[in-house]
Amino acid sequence: MPPTKNPLQIYKHLPRTNCGECYLPSCLAFAAAVTSGAKNPAECPYLRADAARDLTDNIIKREPYEIQREEHLIRLQQAIASRDLPAAAARLGARLAGEKVVVTCLGKDFFVDRQGKVTSECHTHCGLTIPLLSYLLNSNGDVLTGRWVPFRELRGGQPMSGLFEQRGEKRLQRLADRHPELFDDLVAIFGGMEQKNTFAADTAVILMPLPRLPVLICYWRLEEDLDSKLNIFFDITADRHLGIELIFELTVGMVMMFEKIAIKHT
Ligand code: SF4
Repeated sequence: MPPTKNPLQIYKHLPRTNCGECYLPSCLAFAAAVTSGAKNPAECPYLRADAARDLTDNIIKREPYEIQREEHLIRLQQAIASRDLPAAAARLGARLAGEKVVVTCLGKDFFVDRQGKVTSECHTHCGLTIPLLSYLLNSNGDVLTGRWVPFRELRGGQPMSGLFEQRGEKRLQRLADRHPELFDDLVAIFGGMEQKNTFAADTAVILMPLPRLPVLICYWRLEEDLDSKLNIFFDITADRHLGIELIFELTVGMVMMFEKIAIKHT
């Protein structure tokens, strides 16, 4: 068996009788417990000793964080299934395509079906799908005010502001220092909108990671005797569309994606 952290791969090697003798309700639950490290394959009495050893040797245990994220995603998908998606689309600046809601994130369309499954021509991952589904479920649909505030001024932002500065703003600043073409790319690839005369920045671009959740990036270039500077601002309504942890995750995830793209192109 090749190394795996996928419960379904482990499930295939189990008896699949759901007998419950491992004190779990099903073989699938046992497989999930094995990948999280909560159970050992040898705890299934019906698995041959050599098969149990083979599984033990090839399981890549998932981090608790990864498991929590998957569970969070499943809960959101279950909640989506019981929601009125057309009403949510009308409230949140999304549109309908047949049975699916289309949400435009960074200029690209993401399709959400009745089961909360998210598809797109772009790569999808928990870092985007969790904020996107939360937005559909929890945003109150407030319209933008045009009043920009830093992360620390959003509800719950103060305690996380140092981390946001390190993981979001400083990283993006370093990237902009190394790649002067970054802001042109943000406009061309991600539908960024260049702003003039904003906070006296040398460059200011608005990105839309979610329809009612714009992000304003302001960059001041490196001068002879002055360090460069970069700040990220949010509309003051941002925390009414998404919880502060997800705003953090969405923004930092976006910065990490820009880093990866920059690495690929150098
Ligand atoms: S004891 Fe084995 S066969 Fe029975 S439910 Fe657990 S994993 Fe499945």
